[in-house]
Amino acid sequence: MQFHLNGFRTGNPEIAEPSEQDKTSFNPDSLANEVDVLVIGCGPAGLTLAAQLAAFPDIKTQIVDQRPGPLLLGQADGVACRTMEMFEAFGFSERVLKEAHWINETTFWKPDDTCENKIARHGRIQDVEDGLSEFPHVVLNQARVHDFYLEVMRNSANRLQPHYSRRLLGVHVDGAVCSAYAAPSHPVTVSLERIDPAHQGQIETVKARYVVGCDGARSAVRQFLGRVLRGDSANQAWGVMDVLAVTNFPDIRMKALIQSAHEGSIVLIPREGGYLVRIYVELDKLKEDERVAGRNITLDRLIAAAQRILRPYTLEVKEVAWWSVYEIGQRLCDKFDDVPDADVAHRPPHIFIAGDACHTHSPKAGQGMNVSMQDTFNLGWKLAAVLLRRCAAKILHTYSAERQGIAKELIDFDREWVKMLSAPLKSSTDGEGVDPAEVQRYFVKHGHYTAGTATKYKPSLISAEPSHQHLAKGLVIGMRFHSAPVIRLADAKPVRLGDASKADGRWRIFAFADAQAPSARTSRVRGLCEFFADSPQSPVRRYTPATADIDAVIDVRAVFQQGHRELNIDAMPQFLLPTKGRYALRDYEKMFCPDLKGNTDVFDLREIDRELGCVVVVRPDQYVANVLPLDAYADLSAFFAGFMLPAA
Ligand SMILES: Cc1cc2nc3c(=O)[nH]c(=O)nc-3n(C[C@H](O)[C@H](O)[C@H](O)COP(=O)(O)OP(=O)(O)OC[C@H]3O[C@@H](n4cnc5c(N)ncnc54)[C@H](O)[C@@H]3O)c2cc1C
Repeated sequence: MQFHLNGFRTGNPEIAEPSEQDKTSFNPDSLANEVDVLVIGCGPAGLTLAAQLAAFPDIKTQIVDQRPGPLLLGQADGVACRTMEMFEAFGFSERVLKEAHWINETTFWKPDDTCENKIARHGRIQDVEDGLSEFPHVVLNQARVHDFYLEVMRNSANRLQPHYSRRLLGVHVDGAVCSAYAAPSHPVTVSLERIDPAHQGQIETVKARYVVGCDGARSAVRQFLGRVLRGDSANQAWGVMDVLAVTNFPDIRMKALIQSAHEGSIVLIPREGGYLVRIYVELDKLKEDERVAGRNITLDRLIAAAQRILRPYTLEVKEVAWWSVYEIGQRLCDKFDDVPDADVAHRPPHIFIAGDACHTHSPKAGQGMNVSMQDTFNLGWKLAAVLLRRCAAKILHTYSAERQGIAKELIDFDREWVKMLSAPLKSSTDGEGVDPAEVQRYFVKHGHYTAGTATKYKPSLISAEPSHQHLAKGLVIGMRFHSAPVIRLADAKPVRLGDASKADGRWRIFAFADAQAPSARTSRVRGLCEFFADSPQSPVRRYTPATADIDAVIDVRAVFQQGHRELNIDAMPQFLLPTKGRYALRDYEKMFCPDLKGNTDVFDLREIDRELGCVVVVRPDQYVANVLPLDAYADLSAFFAGFMLPAA
C-alpha cells in the first residue's frame, strides 16, 4: 500500500484525510436533501456500491436502510474466490482470510448401498481447482462482510455512514429526463419515512442525480419502476440454522452435500471460528404465491429433519445462533434500470436496481451475496466516471446489459443445480432418478461458475472484440483479469499482479513487454511508453486533467520478461517512474518481473506472446477490456475514445 505521497502523516494510513464535504455537510442524523447518488438498502449490494463511491471525495453519496442499524446475524455466508479478489481491491481481503473458514474440500454423501436408511460418503474433491484464483473460497457471516464495507466507508474522505430507520416511500423522476440526455441536474426525487421511535412518521425528501435500489427481493424501487421479477413457480421452502452442536458426523468441518434416501437433503457449511456450523435443510415445495410463513415451520422441525437426514450419525444441537425459514424461487427482472429498450439511444438511466432486487435464486449455489456485490462493483465505477465527467453517460446502459445477462446465466445454473439436488436418487434397487456421481460431476464441472470466475461480458463499447486475443490467451477479454505472482522490480517484493487494481475507479493498462531488453531503443514497450508520454493521441494525456497525477485516470504498469536482477532501474522508460504529488515524489511501483524463483512465470501462466508482448487494458472493476499489440497506438486511442471524455 502506498501512502505519504503528499507529505508525511502519522497514524493509520487506511483512514483518508477528511474532505471539504465531510468538514461542512455530513450529518449522520439528518439526510442531505441533494446528493449525487442515493443508495437504498444496506445489504451487500448497497454497501459495495457505497464503499466504491466513497473512494471519490467529490461525489456526494447517501445510503439509507429501513433497519434500525447494521445487520448482526444470519443471511448469506458464502464468499467466492472472485469476491475475495474484489475484497482485495477494497483493501480487506486479508482480514477476511484470517477470520473466515476456508472451504478447501467438499464431500458428497448418499444413501448407503447396503442400507438405504444410512448415509455414506461417496466422494471427496478439492473445492477450487489449482490456479483458478490466488484466493480461496471462504465462508463468513454476511454481517461481518457488511462490517468491513462500513469501515471502508467510515475511513473514506467523506466519512460516509448509512442513515438507518428510513423506509422508502416513493420515487419520482422529472418528466424531462424521460426524453433527453441533457437531464435536469438532480432529476430523481425520493421520499423516505423515518421509522425510529423518536422520529416516527417524519417524511424526508432527497433529490438525487442517480438512485440505486439495493433494497432486496421485495424491492420497492423495482416496483416504482414497474419492473417485475419473473420466474418459474417452483418455489421452495428452505430452513437454515447456524448451530453449535455435538455430532459424530465425520465431515462436520467440511462443506458437505448430503442426500438421504427419503428424508431430503442437507447442505452443510462449516463456519468461521472453528465450532459453528450452518445447516441448510430443504423443506416443502410451495404452491404458487404461497408464503412459507403460512406453514408455521418451527426450529424443532428443522432440527428433527437434519437429524433424520444425517442418520446413522447423531446431531445434538446445543445452541442455535440464528435460524430462518424462507422461500426462494429463481426469478429475474428483464432490465435493471429505468430506461425501456426502445429509449436506450435517447436517454441515459437515472434509476437502477441491483442484487436481490433484480434476481433471486436458491442458497444452494452460494451465489446470492456474491452476485449482488458484483452487480454494484460493475455499476459503481461507471456512476463515478460519469459524475466526474470522465466518461459519457451512455456507459451507464452497459450496467443492465452486462449484469442482466450474468444473472440469467446464474438462474439457469441454479435451476439445474437445485433440480439435481432435489431429485430422487438412483440406487442399487431403484434405477430411476439422479446418479449421485452425476451430482459430483456437475459440481466439479461448474467450479469456475461457483467461484465467480466464469463471468464473461459480451463485446460492447467498454469490452472490445477479441481481435488480438492470441497475444494473451489466458487474459480473456470480457473476463476478470486473472492475476499471477510477479516480483516488483524496484524492491524485489513478490506480489500478486492483480492487486494493482484497486477499487479506485482507475483504468489499468498492463504492458507485457516484448522479448527485447526494455532499455533497447527498439524495445516495443519503450515505444509504447513514449507514445503514452508524448503523443497528443495518448489516452493517458487526453483523459488526465493537467493538475492531476499522471496515473489518476489510467494507471500504466509494465511487466518485463527478464528476471528482476537482470534489469537496471536507471535504464527503464521514465514514464514508468512517474513523479507525483505535491513534492513530485517518484512512484517506484509500476514495474514488475516474472517470479522465476517460484517457477511461476506470468508469461507462461497467462500464455502471453513472448516475441511480441501485448497491452492488456483492465476496467476499474478488474475485467479485461482489450488486448492489443504493443504498437497498436491508434486502436488503443480509438478504444478509449469510444466512451471517455477528454479532460477539461
Ligand atoms: C432473511 C434472509 C435470509 C437469507 N438467508 C440466506 C442464506 O441462508 N444463504 C444465502 O446464500 N442467502 C441468504 N439470503 C440471501 C442473501 O442474503 C442475499 O442474496 C443478499 O443479501 C443479497 O444482497 P442485497 O444487497 O441485494 O439485498 P439484501 O441483503 O436483502 O439487502 C436489502 C436491504 O434493503 C433494505 N430495504 C428493503 N426495503 C427497503 C425500503 N423500502 N426502504 C429502505 N430499506 C429497505 C433491507 O432492510 C436490507 O438491509 C437471505 C436473505 C434474507 C432476506
